[in-house]
Parts: sequence; C-alpha cells; structure tokens
Amino acid sequence: MRFISTRTDGASVGAAEAILRGLAPDGGLYVPEGLPRLTLADIDALRPMTYAQRARRVLGALLEGLPQRELGEAIDAAYASFDDPRVAPLAPLSDGVYALELFHGPTLAFKDVALQLLPRLMTLSMRERGETREALILAATSGDTGKAALEGFADVPGTRCAVFYPRAGVSEAQRLQMVTQRGGNTHVIAVEGNFDDAQTGVKRIFADAEFGRRLSQRGIVLSSANSINFGRLAPQVVYYFSAYADLLESGAIRAGEEVNFCVPTGNFGNILAGWYARRCGLPVGRLICASNRNNVLSDFLALGRYEVADRPFYRTASPSMDILISSNLERLLFELCGRDAARVRGWMASLAADGRYDVGAQALEALRATFVGGFADDAQTLQEIGRVFARDGYLMDTHTAVASRVLADYRARTGDARKTVLVSTASPYKFGRAVLEAIEGGQAAQGLDDFACCEALARATGTRVPEPIAQLPRLPVRHTQVCHRDDMEEALLRALP
Ligand SMILES: *Cc1c(COP(=O)(O)O)cnc(C)c1O
Repeated sequence: MRFISTRTDGASVGAAEAILRGLAPDGGLYVPEGLPRLTLADIDALRPMTYAQRARRVLGALLEGLPQRELGEAIDAAYASFDDPRVAPLAPLSDGVYALELFHGPTLAFKDVALQLLPRLMTLSMRERGETREALILAATSGDTGKAALEGFADVPGTRCAVFYPRAGVSEAQRLQMVTQRGGNTHVIAVEGNFDDAQTGVKRIFADAEFGRRLSQRGIVLSSANSINFGRLAPQVVYYFSAYADLLESGAIRAGEEVNFCVPTGNFGNILAGWYARRCGLPVGRLICASNRNNVLSDFLALGRYEVADRPFYRTASPSMDILISSNLERLLFELCGRDAARVRGWMASLAADGRYDVGAQALEALRATFVGGFADDAQTLQEIGRVFARDGYLMDTHTAVASRVLADYRARTGDARKTVLVSTASPYKFGRAVLEAIEGGQAAQGLDDFACCEALARATGTRVPEPIAQLPRLPVRHTQVCHRDDMEEALLRALP
C-alpha cells in the first residue's frame, strides 16, 4: 500500500514512511492510494476469529508493505492488555441497537485501541526505514489523549513519550492518571497555563528547526501520536469489521445486510475509520455523526458549510468531543471531490484565513449519501444516560450518551430501523461525576471528590469501579516537573536522560 498527500499530487510513500512522518511535508494528510477490498466471504471468515486475528486480517491488507509476521506480533501484544478477552465486545440494547464497547483498554477510552498499537507500528516502521535514532513522541493534552499515549509508549524500546498538561486544566483523576504513569521512557510535565498554552508550546517545539537539530545530536527524532497519523486511524478500521462479524456470528444479521453505525465525534477520526471500512467492502448503511453542543459537524453535514468563525466554544459534559476543527475531515473531502488536491488546498486556506469553507452542492450530495449528523446538549445527554439505564440496565458514559440520543432522534425522524451499532467510546467511570448526576440527580455528587463519585455510582448501579481508576489514589506519584509556558523546550531537555 502506498500513501499520497491530500494537498499535492506529489509522489507516494510507503506505509512505514507515512507512519513515521505523521503529517505530509506539504501540510496535508496521508491517505491510502488504493484500498483493499474484503468480499462477503472474507468477512464471513472473520466470524470465528479472535479480535487479534481479525486485526491481522484487516490491517495486513490496509498496511500492506509492513512485514506481516512482525505486524501480527505487534497486534497480539497490543490487545493482550485489554481487560476483556473479546477486546471490543458488543452489548445488545433494545430495538436492534448494539453498544460496541471500545473502553476495555488500560485507560478506559477508545483511544487505547489505536494507541496500544501505534507505538509498535512506529518501532516496526523505524526498523523498516533504517532509522536508528530514538523517536520522541510529544503531546499536549487536555486529559485523555496524553494518558493513552503514555500508556501505549511506556517501555516500548526505541521510543520515549513526553506529555505537557495544563496545571489548572485537567480533572483530579486525569492528573493522577498522568503523574503516576509508570515506564522509564515517559515524561509528564505540568505547564503553568491553560490547554492552549500547552498546545501552542508543543507546536512551537515541532516548528523549531534548531531545537530539532539539538535533539538529533542527542540521537532523538520528534514524532506525533495524534489522529492525523494514518497509523492511528488504521487500527480503528478493524473494530467496524469485528462488530459486523459478531452480529453475523450471533445471527442478528444475514451476510450482506447493511448495518448503521452511530459515532460520538470530535476530530472525525473514529467515524472516518468507519467510512474506510465501508470503502473496503463492509456493508455499512448510514454513518451517523453525533456531536455535542459544539455542533460544527452537524451544521456542516446539513449545509455543506464548515464554519468556525464567530462560533462560541462550549465546555460540555463530553469534553473529548469539545473540538471545533475536525482535522480528519480533510481526508474525506479529498475523496469526495475526486482527489482534487488543489480544491482541498483552497478549502483549508479559506479555513485558516476566514474560519470557514463551503464545499458546494456536489460534494455535499456525495457526503450525505452516507453521512447524517445530529447533536445533543448536556441536559439531553444526562437524560439519555438515565433513560437507557432505566430501560436496559445499561450504564453508558457521556460521550456514548450523546450518540445514543442522536440515534434515537434519527430513528424517530426517519423510521430507519436497520440494526445499528452504537460506538461506545469511554467507560462511564471515566466521567463518574456526570454519570452519577445523571442516575441519581444533581445533588448526589455535591461535596464528593471524583473517586467518591465513582464509589457512589458503583453502589447506585450495582456495577464495579474499574481497577485503573480504583487503584489511582494508592499509586506513587512519579512525575512532579512543572514549567512556565515559555520554558517548555528547556524543561523537555532537562527531563530527557
Ligand atoms: C477522542 C474521543 C472521542 C472523539 O473521537 P474522534 O476520533 O476525535 O472523533 C469521543 N469519545 C471519547 C471518549 C474520546 O476520547
């Protein structure tokens, strides 16, 4: 498989190079030049397989060019750490809806599915490319991504992972998750400032060529683990196939029957993986794109205009979807306009200059052939958690609940009763305070810290606090470094061995 950039019609690169680079040199994103196709017989053959075997099959095709035996070993190692042997189990709810639980990894959110594998894909790619320097993965985090990256890269040979978080901008549980991080190659640094300060500082480090040379002299090369990297997207294609295979295996659907997927969306990475699955032959009906009150995507899917200028940014109960610029949309637009890199460049330039772009009627029509958008505010989201728990005895987190509510609205509006997979992106205990309030009412969480909220939630619902959260107050603090926002480069150099 070769990869091309969304912004120039330049030469293609192999999978290893696309993964190591992350972003293309022209600022575009790498997309596969051609996609493999799985037939219905191929999909049927996934039924008896374990998740890791399914991943070997799908990723083997998607990342063709990487050495297959080592890819298989990387996959086995990545998913061995999940707390459910099925890795991504399906839980049946009512009316032909199935929750696809993607939160059984070490940090209890779906980002583990990709970030447990990406570090291994990187080291594999480094060997392929003869790269002997150590890869330093840098991230600024508002909470979840940083922890998932640290956990994925911890003690992976040939890599090092450094995360900057805003000292005053993360929850107590999120802070503890990071400062107790194990691994001799992990570094966690608090920044005196907010998330934007941390993010701006990290971007500055990436752009500082002189700093890059200093690192290179020490045998280090910088890299990124966010979802612009195709190596993060590819592992997410697998669970769409896996969910379909499970539905076949349980007799819920016949071979070839179309299934809808409803996805709580922020950066458009997860749902784009569903679109790739469809392109690779999976019988997908609609991809329902669910947003919270930051509903730039649902407006875009309705009007074809992407508009962030003058749009307020809301902090919501589903913080991992509080995003206004969904970077991965660029990959989809590139495909829908017939791979016209010049048009994509124009739209992205317009976004950078004016905070908006308009894709026009033709691209909008192509988009709406598969995608449909919707959004839910916080009140609707909390109400949905209570409704589903009362009806099905199933406890969902705030992000999943946004999607559940949007799905209910979509079905009521359209009568589309196809079997639907509700992509469930986090454990309810990761957002225990809001979920407790949804189940027990607003007063229930008053005066409780995040851990007490989780314990109260467990008592109220007869479920268990997952071990990665229960153990947090007992773990030793390993990272105490704090830096000023103008001092991040020096802080990083001090942290490195
Ligand atoms: C990151 C995240 C999302 C959004 O996923 P995208 O790929 O950015 O669209 C949704 N839910 C949770 C819990 C997340 O951590």
